[in-house]
Amino acid sequence: MVRSIEDINERIIKGKAIVLTAQEVGELVENGDDIILEDVDVVTTATRAVMSGTYAVLSFPVDAPFSFIRADQVFLNEVPAHVGPCPNERLGILDMMVFGTTHGIDDPEYGAGHLFRDLVERKPVSVRVVTDAGTTFSTTTTLDDITYAKLFGTRNTFKNYSAFVNCSSNSVSTIFHAVEFGPDMSGATFSGCGQLNPVKNDPQLRTIGIGTRILFNGAQGFIIGDGTRSSVEKPNLIAVADMHSMIPEYMGGFTTSAGPECVVSWAVPIPVIEKGVLDAIKQLDSKVPLPVMDVDQRERIGMATYGDGWSGVDLEVVVEPSRCIGCDHCLPQESCPTDAIHVDNGAVVLDRVKCFNCGLCTTLCPVDVFAAELGALHFEYNGTDIDVPVILRQSDRKRAIELSQILKRSILDGTFRLTEMVERIVP
Ligand code: SF4
Ligand code: SF4
Repeated sequence: MVRSIEDINERIIKGKAIVLTAQEVGELVENGDDIILEDVDVVTTATRAVMSGTYAVLSFPVDAPFSFIRADQVFLNEVPAHVGPCPNERLGILDMMVFGTTHGIDDPEYGAGHLFRDLVERKPVSVRVVTDAGTTFSTTTTLDDITYAKLFGTRNTFKNYSAFVNCSSNSVSTIFHAVEFGPDMSGATFSGCGQLNPVKNDPQLRTIGIGTRILFNGAQGFIIGDGTRSSVEKPNLIAVADMHSMIPEYMGGFTTSAGPECVVSWAVPIPVIEKGVLDAIKQLDSKVPLPVMDVDQRERIGMATYGDGWSGVDLEVVVEPSRCIGCDHCLPQESCPTDAIHVDNGAVVLDRVKCFNCGLCTTLCPVDVFAAELGALHFEYNGTDIDVPVILRQSDRKRAIELSQILKRSILDGTFRLTEMVERIVP
């Protein structure tokens, strides 16, 4: 039996469609339910993670026409932009691209990911322009004054990703940890939302293609192709959406020991058109491989599963401020990659909106003010089975689940329509 997206859309319009999140399907499978095609029409999938391959294209007026000929350099909150491609000669208008991994020039912990979120939160952003005549002027803007603001994910939503350990005897500065990565395989970090990941749920890209409507940072956008270095083994995708409709909680900056990185979120509907698609959806975390890499040599040293990272763990950190003993240096506060921990009148406060649920704070506080079970990666290394405790997650499964629920509700209430792809992407 093969169903068309048109048939499924008709069932949605008639209020007869069954839409489940990938998390809900996983729970049914774990309970032993035998799900068949008639049981589900659409499964909503999602991921939220640090994803380097992201850039914004912005265009907006900054001055009166003829006030300068061309912009040579532009800085937004002191994050350097790439001016162009349109020169906008004498128009007083800037066109630019901002790469998501760009670091600010006056704050080592502020980057383009933070800038994108500040824009979407409608915060004022400073604009410094150096003209081709060598003059400089500054102004401020907000997203509401930026007439064109589109975000592109050029290398996003991998069919899951990798875990990292440090096999060397030295600490390593890396984008794969929020602090220096300690030596001798003392801990593991990992990325990827396991059974919730969109491409894991349609690895042959039977329903995901060019023109598929998705939620990108909560805004409706479209997949436009395969991403850079995409391969059959590790497919990834490129998408675009308008920043004006994005939701700040699903994006932002994430400061690593190698500088700030960019966080984005995807939610993708998978119409269950045939048994092969359903079989992939039913695959649980414990069956999704998680390659373990040495962060120093970038070599694969073992193979765990996403069950190690996401089964039986806490997706959210619990906070007990009364336990705090008021250390001179609060390592969780100093090291939090999203600046979510503050001390207010001597009391530790966790900002849940900023928190990425990475779990790092639970490994740094001596008296467990922050607590969460993060699990351990289990794999064979040099002929021996070993367990390496997880010390940081660079994917936020909790918010990915939330996003898959938002997409489910949007499909059911008719505000999100499934699209037919216009061309297949060959994985
Ligand atoms: S490390 Fe823990 S106990 Fe020390 S100040 Fe921070 S929250 Fe309080
Ligand atoms: S889990 Fe802890 S360290 Fe990680 S983002 Fe949240 S508050 Fe910061």
